[in-house]
This record gives sequence, structure tokens and C-alpha cells, in this order.
Amino acid sequence: MADRVVTLNAGSSSVKFALFAADADWPRLIVSGAVEGLGAKPRFRAAIVDGDASDRPLAAKLTHKQAIAAIFEWIEDAYPAAAVSAIGHRVVHGGLSFAAPIIVDAETLAELREFIPLAPLHQPHNIAGIEVARDAFPHVPQVACFDTAFHRGHAFVDDAYALPYSYYERGLRRFGFHGLSYEYISRRLRTIDPVHAEGGVIIAHLGNGASLCAMKGGRSIATSMGFSALEGLPMGTRCGQIDPGLLLYLLQSDAMTPEELSHLLYERSGLLGLSGVSHDMRTLEASEDPRAQAAIAYFIHRIKMEIAALAAAIGGFDALVFTAGIGEHSPRVRAGVVEGLGWLGLTLDTAANSRNDPVISAAQSRIPVFVTPTDEEAMIARHTIETAGLTAAAR
Ligand code: AMP
Repeated sequence: MADRVVTLNAGSSSVKFALFAADADWPRLIVSGAVEGLGAKPRFRAAIVDGDASDRPLAAKLTHKQAIAAIFEWIEDAYPAAAVSAIGHRVVHGGLSFAAPIIVDAETLAELREFIPLAPLHQPHNIAGIEVARDAFPHVPQVACFDTAFHRGHAFVDDAYALPYSYYERGLRRFGFHGLSYEYISRRLRTIDPVHAEGGVIIAHLGNGASLCAMKGGRSIATSMGFSALEGLPMGTRCGQIDPGLLLYLLQSDAMTPEELSHLLYERSGLLGLSGVSHDMRTLEASEDPRAQAAIAYFIHRIKMEIAALAAAIGGFDALVFTAGIGEHSPRVRAGVVEGLGWLGLTLDTAANSRNDPVISAAQSRIPVFVTPTDEEAMIARHTIETAGLTAAAR
């Protein structure tokens, strides 16, 4: 039987999982699912490809570790014969050390713990996933796939902050995130439009977390997120671009504690903070509250500005791709961005956009605009198969 690979993608309130077979050039999905609503009303759901789906409530007050253990129990029950050959983990932060996926050992796990303060919403849960998987499958390689790795080749000007140089040497740099999503889209674009894929491409990953990446020849050159996942675009609950002087003011004049400031910037800001209604784009689009509408307008405005900035970083671009929850499903946000960039030669096909078609630019558009679903899980599985040495010859 072909090797089986499990992927885990642990976020602040959910843990996504998938089981893949390594029996084709690209990982073949068998089942995907998640434990969602951690901290509130947790639910377990799983969907077997071309098969049954299950969706049931779980005990309240489930920790991330318990949720991950429940996922492994379900997989072992549902697929008793599926010998798992490797487990792949999305790990948000790989710091300066990790520019490619690795097999985790005690030493590297300790190093990954050092990055917890750099990504407090995600890194602790990513590490919990590795610990539970290691206990459940002690003889199986645990592969860490980093969201930062795709951006590690940036030139100094796209990697540095203008602090004293010693801070750069210490590793206080623009790491960038969503790398697994960008890598997946970059590969997909080579199939969809091989000519443009080799040129300048801007990808807009617009989900609860949102960022942009400017690529050339399929490689990341610049990205809107920086040292932390706070920089760049406003997000569901994160602020995005902000004047550091404002943060000093809050610390000094409002006597905010670092914890209060962190909570404000990560969890009370962005679309939620501006609207006072919700962090969720669907809810905002359906709302008649003027502040909800203002929050959407702000989101679109910042995306346009950041795209123009990234275009300058790569000397212009040949294709624009929208992905993730909002990018794949919100005609309104995409229309605002594309029409607002008309001066760059982008023209929208309104009907195609309203249908969420794969190509939403009009025939006369100087730059094609794509809507391409992302698949971080498949990218993790692919890296896991390669890194664990489950090569075609071994299958
Ligand atoms: P993600 O983090 O990629 O799962 O994306 C979540 C975001 O996508 C949330 O803000 C959702 O409201 C948004 N989203 C999902 N479906 C739609 C839709 N049909 N229209 C607008 N926004 C959507």
C-alpha cells in the first residue's frame, strides 16, 4: 500500500487535518477535516473524498492538545490499516534558521519554542501538534513546514528595518508569512498560465489573516507581512500597517501594558475593531451598519496601496492572483481592488467576477487577474513526502 501522510494545521481556534496517499506525483487527498470552535463550542468535522461526511459536537473546554489527540483517534478508528509514514505540520515561524522543511528532533523543537513570542497566536499550537503527534506516533518522522521559509531569500532592502544594523544581525527582520499558500499558488500558476507565472506576479492571500506577496520567476521577492503577522494589510482582528509612534503613545501616555497592547493589536483591531460588528467579511458585507461598510472600504483601500508598493518592489507585474476565503469568494472586495487599479491597466470582467471564475479580468485587460483556491494542506503533504524521503522509488 502507498505511504500515508497526515497533515496538521493548528490555528488559534481550530486544528485542520488531512490524510493523503503518496501514490501519485502530487499527494492524493483521502480525507480532510478539522476541530473548530476551540475555546467556545468545539465541533469535529471530517469529509471523505467522494464519501461520507461527519460533523459532531465535542466536549466544551477542549485544549488544543486534546483536540489533536481526538483527531488521531478518529484517523486510527476510520483507517485502521493506514500505516502513517510521516506527519507534516504547518509551523508559522521558522526564524532565520529554517529556510526549508525539516524533520523535527528534540533540538529543533527547542529552537521552534524560541519563536513563540514572534507568533503568539499560532506557534504554541503548532508545537503542541508536534508534541502530541510524536507521542501518538513515536517512530514516525514529524516534518515541520514553515510559513516563513518561502520568503527567506529576500534581498536586504526587502528583509531589513531601518534600525541600527546590529538589530538586523540579531535577526529582527521582515520574515513574511503565508509562505505555504504562496508556494502552492506559484506552482498552480505554472500550470494555469506558464508564461505569466515566470514574470512578475502579485498574490493576494485574503483570509482571516491577509497578506500580499510579489514574486518573480516563482520566487518571493517582497511581501506585506514583516517581523510579525501584524504588519501590512488589516485583517479579521489584526491591525496591519500602523505608525510605531502610535504604539509608543499607547505605552507611554495611556500606560498600556505590553499584554494589553498585544491583545489590542492582534485581537481587537482590523475589520472587527473598525466595524464594531464582526471580523468576518461575509457578516460585514451583509451588514447595513455604516461602520461595517467603512471597514470594507478601508480593507480594499489598503490592499490597493500595498499592491502598488509591491509592484514597485518588482518593477511592475504581469499577473494578479486572489486566494483564501475572501480572495476566492468575495466579488465585492475583488472588484474594489481591480477597479481601483484600473490606472495600472487592469480591467475587470464583472460577470466572471460575480461567478468567482478562475479568470476575472476582461479580454482587453493589460494584466490578467486570477482567482485560484489555495491548498496549504497539499503543500504540507508534498513537503512531508519529500522531506521524509517517501520518494517515487519508495512508493
Ligand atoms: P480563511 O481564513 O481563508 O478561511 O477566510 C475567512 C474569511 O473569508 C472570512 O472573513 C469569511 O467571511 C471570508 N469569506 C468566506 N466566504 C465568503 C464569501 N462568500 N463572501 C465573502 N467573504 C467570504
